[in-house]
Amino acid sequence: MMNRRQFVSAAAASAAMFARIPNVFAQSIELIIKGGRVVDPSIGLDAIRDIAIAGGRIVAVEPNIAASAADTIDARGKIVAPGLIDIHTHAGRGKDGPPLALQDGVTGWVDAGTAGADNIDQVSAVARGSPQIGRLLVNISRTGVKSPEGELHDINLANVDLARGAIARHRDVVVGMKVRMSNEVAEANDLEALRRAQEAAAPFNLPVMIHVGQNFSPMRSILSLLKRGDVVTHMYAPPPNGILDDKGILLPEVSAARRRGVIFDFGNGVNGHFTWDMVERTMKQGFWPDTFSTDWSTASKTTGVVDFPNVMSKFLMFGMSLSQIVACATCNAARVFPAFDDRGTLNVGAPADVAIMELRDGEFEFVDNYKGKRTGKQRLIPFATVLNGKRVAKA
Ligand SMILES: [Zn+2]
Repeated sequence: MMNRRQFVSAAAASAAMFARIPNVFAQSIELIIKGGRVVDPSIGLDAIRDIAIAGGRIVAVEPNIAASAADTIDARGKIVAPGLIDIHTHAGRGKDGPPLALQDGVTGWVDAGTAGADNIDQVSAVARGSPQIGRLLVNISRTGVKSPEGELHDINLANVDLARGAIARHRDVVVGMKVRMSNEVAEANDLEALRRAQEAAAPFNLPVMIHVGQNFSPMRSILSLLKRGDVVTHMYAPPPNGILDDKGILLPEVSAARRRGVIFDFGNGVNGHFTWDMVERTMKQGFWPDTFSTDWSTASKTTGVVDFPNVMSKFLMFGMSLSQIVACATCNAARVFPAFDDRGTLNVGAPADVAIMELRDGEFEFVDNYKGKRTGKQRLIPFATVLNGKRVAKA
C-alpha cells in the first residue's frame, strides 16, 4: 500500500510527465506549432517554444515536443502570440467582416456601436454567425453610427428604455454600451448622452466605451462620469479637449481615471483620432495605451489601419517592447470584457487561439489620421491564424 508521502510524489511525477506529454496523450495531438518565438505576456514568456494542441486546447508549451501530430505549422523565424483581440471594430457591419479579420490573426472582436436599438438585430446576427468570438456594444443613439453627419445632434435619439431593451434581447452577445462624444457627432449633448449610456448599462452591470476627440465638453467633465471598467477609445485624439492641457501636459484627471480602473484604448481609425505628435508627447510622459484597437472595417486594408498587426507595429517606433505590444492586443484586451476571460493567453489548458506573425525588418511607412507619415524599422505581418486548435485556411 502507498503511504502518503509516496502518493504525493507519484502525483507530482505524473504532473511533470503531463507537461512533457506522456505517450498516451501524444497520439491525440492535432496540431504542433514548431520552433516559433512564443511571446505570451500573460505568463511572461518570450522564448523559442513548440506548442502542442489537442481537443482545441493548448496541452503543452515546451522547448522541444517530439510527438507526431496530424498537422504541423513551421513557425521558425516567426512570432507566435495569443490570438489577437480587437476591442474596437465595426466587424459587425456584415458577415464578410469577421472571416477577413480572422486572416489577420484576430480571434476575438468587439463591434463598438455600429448599431443602436433600431438596428441591433442585424449586427447581433453577424456576431452569432462569426467563426471567432464576436461581441457588441450598443450605441446609445437608437440609430447607431451615422457617418459623417453624427447620431447625437438630437438627444432624443439617446433613449434609455430602448437601449435597455436592445441589451435584454441580445444578452448573449452584448457586452456594453458605446457613446460617440466628439463635437461633430454630439455637440453640446456629449455629457447627457454619456449619462444616459451609464443609465442604460447600470441594471446589467456593463461597461461603457466612449469615443472622444474634439469634444464640446472638457475631458475632466467627461472622465468624471466614468466608472471602473469603462473604456476611453481614441485616447490620443488631438485638441480641443483632449487628454493634454494647453501646454501639452497630461491632465491629472487622466492619470487618476487610470488609477481607478478606467481603460485607455488606442483606437486607430481613419479621421481625427490621432496624430503622431499626440502619441509622442503623451508617451514621453509615461502614459501608454492599456489596449490597442483598430476601429476596423472591411475598408481598412486601404486606410492607415491596414490590419491589426500593422497598428501594433506603430508602437514599436515609440519604444514599447514586442512583449508590451502583444500584451495590449491580447491579455490586456481580454481583461476588458468577461467574454474573453480564457483568451489572450497560450497557457496550458486555454482554448488554442494563436496569431502567428512575421516581424519583418526594413523601412516601413506608417500614417496617422492627419496624413502624417513616420518610418519604422519593423513591422508585424500576419502569417497564419489558429482558431480553437484548427489552422485557418488562407483566403
Ligand atoms: Zn469606431
